[in-house]
Amino acid sequence: MKSEPPSTPSPTPVPDQIVAGLAKVALAYRHQQWQAAGKSGLTPTQSLILAAAAGAEDRGSPLGIKGIAKELAVTMSTASEAVSALVSRGLLQKREADGDGRAVTLHLTARGRRAMEAAPEWPGAMAEAAAAMSEEERAAMLRGLVGLIRAMQERGLIPTQRMCVECSFFEPNRYTGPKPHHCGFVNAPMADSDLRLDCADMRPAQPEKRVWPVFVGGRERETARPDERAPKADAPA
Ligand code: SF4
Repeated sequence: MKSEPPSTPSPTPVPDQIVAGLAKVALAYRHQQWQAAGKSGLTPTQSLILAAAAGAEDRGSPLGIKGIAKELAVTMSTASEAVSALVSRGLLQKREADGDGRAVTLHLTARGRRAMEAAPEWPGAMAEAAAAMSEEERAAMLRGLVGLIRAMQERGLIPTQRMCVECSFFEPNRYTGPKPHHCGFVNAPMADSDLRLDCADMRPAQPEKRVWPVFVGGRERETARPDERAPKADAPA
């Protein structure tokens, strides 16, 4: 008599599995951040504010408190409190915004810049774990994260990011081969593993450029250049 095959457990929907996995990663990330904070003397929020203010200053468009709150997706009172702590420690300076006597922009002092450079942006142990994955796994994960971040942006869950998939310099699926995309800013081909989530050189693309549909769906037949070979150049740093 044949025995019945064991029944499989009812599957958990994949979106729920993804959220459960991300929650575990977020928990570990938070824990590592607080460990790093103990060494640097900066809270995770303060470290992120210094990095955001420095990045904006370097791009020539310094942020005010409202801009910091938006960039970090925190409330105005959280941003304001953390900025005040950084100002009183001499790490951040408030300056009158050009042409607006009422608004202020935030600038790192020399001490603030040294503190930011000493504070690790990403917890080292997690970066090591990501580095231990295979190149294919890392590329697939990065591509998946790009899609998730974009979907969250569209729903207003996180602020707009400076990603390749929304950049006017980005030409997805231009080539055949292992580096199918192209960055017009550095004029170089890119693999999925070269995709950037926060690029200082990003310029938002107009919707008619259809960057995202071509990224996920490939080039349409009439616009495809299947025999075009990627030039031999390095991907953007
Ligand atoms: S690397 Fe930067 S400049 Fe190049 S396509 Fe990506 S976001 Fe745009």
